[in-house]
Amino acid sequence: MSQLEKLYEGKAKIVYRSQEPDVFLTYFKDDATAFNAQKKGTITGKGEVNCTVSAILFQWLESQGIPTHYLEQTAPNEMLVKAVKIIPLEVVVRNIAAGSLTRETGLELGTILPQPLVEFYLKNDALGDPLLTRDRLSLLAIVTPEQLEILEKMALSINQHLQKFFLNCEITLVDFKLEFGFDSKGNIILADEISPDTCRLWDATESDPQARILDKDRFRQDLGAIEAAYQKVRSRVTDKQI
Ligand code: UDP
Repeated sequence: MSQLEKLYEGKAKIVYRSQEPDVFLTYFKDDATAFNAQKKGTITGKGEVNCTVSAILFQWLESQGIPTHYLEQTAPNEMLVKAVKIIPLEVVVRNIAAGSLTRETGLELGTILPQPLVEFYLKNDALGDPLLTRDRLSLLAIVTPEQLEILEKMALSINQHLQKFFLNCEITLVDFKLEFGFDSKGNIILADEISPDTCRLWDATESDPQARILDKDRFRQDLGAIEAAYQKVRSRVTDKQI
């Protein structure tokens, strides 16, 4: 891997150019950050969990007709993916109020939303990934109105498929963040990762509001037992694949 050209190093992943044209290799790190990298740490085994969980979920979504960048998991923390040009938007889908939605609207944590909420944030660390209004999305013209509609439809469809998958694992899908990119033909496909770093996942068999948290909120809120929570997600997702 060290001989491969490093294209990009982010907070949780490194992307390399592979020997194949139009194929990148993604390496998932154990490094963890929160609050726009103001809090830093390591979650042992996180890279392997996030890579494996993402691989399984991308394959599930592909089987349901959602195009993704996933090609093959080549090691516990390495994945081959189609080369894409990432669209600099973070697409968040919410089923239950948590995180910034509760902080910024006053909705009570755990409120079940009447319908899934799709939100677009600008992917820009220097600006703190601000939430965009429809008018700002149109002003910035990162995507066309037609592409925006495709992103919204794909996000809602992915939510339905992921909810079904996680329900089978006795996990409640509270909210999650997606990233999309343009493939070599200009099609919009799902990229990045879907993991306990990018989703809020609650253990549906647990009623205690802290014990049920199986995602990066354990790190954000210093709740402890972070590794155990990530491993629980991995084993449920691996064992209960549909
Ligand atoms: N999220 C993410 N990366 C980000 C911001 C959010 O993966 O840079 C995920 C987060 O894990 C959660 C969802 O998107 O599952 C919604 O996050 P929220 O807006 O509530 O932000 P937070 O409360 O984490 O600041």
